[in-house]
Amino acid sequence: MAAEQVLPNVQWFPGHMTKARKIITENLKLVDVVIELLDARIPYSSANPMLQEIIAGKPKVVALNKSDLADPAITKKWVAYFRSKGIQAVAVDATQGKGTKQLVKITEELARSKTEKLVSKGAKARSARVMILGIPNVGKSSLINRLAGSNKAKTADKPGVTRAKQWIRLADSLELLDTPGILWPKFEDMNAGLKLAFTGAINDEAVDRELITGVFLDTMIKLYPERIKERYKITDELPETSGELLELIGKKRGCLVKGGVVDLEKAQRIVLTDFRSGKLGTVSLDTPPDIEETENSQEKN
Ligand code: GDP
Repeated sequence: MAAEQVLPNVQWFPGHMTKARKIITENLKLVDVVIELLDARIPYSSANPMLQEIIAGKPKVVALNKSDLADPAITKKWVAYFRSKGIQAVAVDATQGKGTKQLVKITEELARSKTEKLVSKGAKARSARVMILGIPNVGKSSLINRLAGSNKAKTADKPGVTRAKQWIRLADSLELLDTPGILWPKFEDMNAGLKLAFTGAINDEAVDRELITGVFLDTMIKLYPERIKERYKITDELPETSGELLELIGKKRGCLVKGGVVDLEKAQRIVLTDFRSGKLGTVSLDTPPDIEETENSQEKN
């Protein structure tokens, strides 16, 4: 089943994708390095399936954003996984600015090797340029604002004057494009679509909240039962089904309507809001492939 069968209204129409791709391709011509922004809780599901093809061999660094909400042990494994594939990766938290210095350092190094190559081929030395790419809601604007700090270029917004591209200086020889590249999310994969919905990457109005809360709770029963017990003060074993669990959570949180019936919609909203705001603790829903293999090769190195 494809994601759009579960999430019918979130489809990017082919025309949207073509337009997004065209804008990115134009901007890519201006940059030497790409920062691919992923959600650290779902690095697989928040990746655009065509990114490699679109950036066509341009050096890239992966930034695992919202790492404050992700399981640190799993984020570490993702960083190791990317590195094992020869891709630099760093965990960041764009709202607090964690990891951003390291991100700039890695980007600068990647850019330097690119510009040095150009100079050795006879080009004039110039600052390297970088842009941020990612699906909606992954934190692109937050990261740009964080990186910009006091360096944010003031735009002279004069009517009738074509606005030049705005660049933010990140280091002596590194500039960041002020406009991020917006990529479409994975639609061909239902599991990825569901995880995007859990995290709020897809607008709640567009999804079946009952369905996604059910699948989310099933996942939590399997992966993080203790977090659920702790948050909702459940001392007994968790019920086996998400339906029973939701009812129990509703009761615990006093979501009752007349006659002691649980207001399930309210309980669904509570569960999703708790997850998205980190009240269920740090949770990761995608794990990297071949973790053992990656770990073994890391140990050998
Ligand atoms: P964009 O659509 O990719 O530009 O995403 P935004 O920068 O608008 O961020 C989307 C939401 O995620 C906002 O509510 C941000 O406050 C939040 N956000 C962004 N980065 C982080 C982060 O590192 N940690 C947390 N907890 N929230 C973040």
